[in-house]
Amino acid sequence: SATIINGKEVSQKCLDTIAQQVKNRAESGLRVPGLAVILVGEDPASAVYVRNKNAACEKVGFKSFSYHLPEHTTEQQLNNLIDELNQNDEVDGILVQLPLPKQINSQNILERILPEKDVDGFHPYNVGRLAQRIPLLRPCTPKGVMTLLRAYDVPVKGKNVVIVGASNIVGRPQALEMMLAGATVTVCHRFTTNLPEELSKADIVVVAVGKPHLVKGEWIKQGAVVIDVGINRLEDGTLCGDVEFDVAKERAAMITPVPGGVGPMTIASLLENTLQAAQLREQKLWV
Ligand code: NAD
Repeated sequence: SATIINGKEVSQKCLDTIAQQVKNRAESGLRVPGLAVILVGEDPASAVYVRNKNAACEKVGFKSFSYHLPEHTTEQQLNNLIDELNQNDEVDGILVQLPLPKQINSQNILERILPEKDVDGFHPYNVGRLAQRIPLLRPCTPKGVMTLLRAYDVPVKGKNVVIVGASNIVGRPQALEMMLAGATVTVCHRFTTNLPEELSKADIVVVAVGKPHLVKGEWIKQGAVVIDVGINRLEDGTLCGDVEFDVAKERAAMITPVPGGVGPMTIASLLENTLQAAQLREQKLWV
């Protein structure tokens, strides 16, 4: 039976390291990093994510700026807030929780955030840098997955990696991260015709679709490492991933649980990015 990857534990270690670095900064007279989190509207899942992000911020000693705007907020109003935060020297990172209400164009908003404060790593500038192998701020969830693999000494170089899901926030940047780490990468998505066949060759599988039990346990190659990014709420209120966990864990060498796998790592990456954003601005590494 597989080793269950403990994302909570790895995430806590990252948070401890960041908290220590914040202390060291304070001792050498440097500013506490600041993160601004913007929530628009009343989506309950988003409210939970935002609360967790603010709480994590406080835990490591960052200054947190929290904004909750009403559902009917206009794109112009949100732009004005972002412009103000872009100018605010105490703010190192700006995060706009997605999804946004329909009257607001998310792409416009993501591009309004200065790349040097784009701690989600979604700005085309930062995605482009990752694609060209000169990353600065990297998308949080894929970065968290790479941190998890490193923490468990999973080699990536030369391995066959299959990513299921090709979204801008997980699948695509995950593919870029895996290529950067030297893997042979296959990206599957809704038009992929034979998912079981693709998965049968995978040494490492990363699944980010958002459909409970889409990936059957018997599709997993014996001894593979399975990373389940999916978060689905079932009718009975419990959470599950995109992988049929109970069967997959009998074939995999390692597997992430949901919850407690990738989820906590996303927050750890966000805090790492915020600290890095503060450092990059101090070093004036932005052109
Ligand atoms: P998305 O809806 O933007 O993208 C889903 C992707 O899955 C698309 O590329 C689509 O082509 C693909 N897909 C759909 N049906 C498929 C099928 N039958 N076979 C193969 N591919 C298929 O989703 P997203 O934003 O990338 O999120 C995916 C999941 O990950 C969601 O459950 C989300 O809640 C979760 N998530 C978790 C974290 C975390 O921190 N753990 C972060 C982001 C997203």
